[in-house]
Amino acid sequence: MGGVHLICPYCNANNDKVIDSRESDAARVVRRRRECLACSKRFTTYERVEQTARLVVIKRDGSRAPFLRDNVMRGIMAAFGKRPIPEDVKEHIVDQIEEELHREFDREVESRVVGERVMQKLKDLDEVAYIRFASEYRKFKNVDDLLLELAQLQNRVKDVKNQQKLF
Ligand SMILES: [Zn+2]
Repeated sequence: MGGVHLICPYCNANNDKVIDSRESDAARVVRRRRECLACSKRFTTYERVEQTARLVVIKRDGSRAPFLRDNVMRGIMAAFGKRPIPEDVKEHIVDQIEEELHREFDREVESRVVGERVMQKLKDLDEVAYIRFASEYRKFKNVDDLLLELAQLQNRVKDVKNQQKLF
């Protein structure tokens, strides 16, 4: 290992050096910090061991499709839009979701569960992204659902504010 060069996302040069290498998720993911030798900018890459036991997602209409990390990432990217959330954080959320689902489900998982897991993570991180994702994902059945969701969110914000006063 170590001899692999990747295309720099800034200048497209194919000449970089690894400056930091870290394993996570029980060594299934290796995060590498790289520096482009042409333009000196730094970027991060993630190497992951492909899951041999593939998870299958059961969609609402009953059809099945392989669980794809990229789909989760796309949903998260759409939810964040232009919110100032670092790429690392997004990657980390997807890692966590992927890990949890593989740990908790043997072969199959309902798409609803995947969506709820994403919502959970977004809720903790960025409320705007959460609302955006939730409204898109759940297609709120009616206004009451949306209001209930917002009310719960309000309460949570209050909780956080109260907690902050304690410190
Ligand atoms: Zn470069």
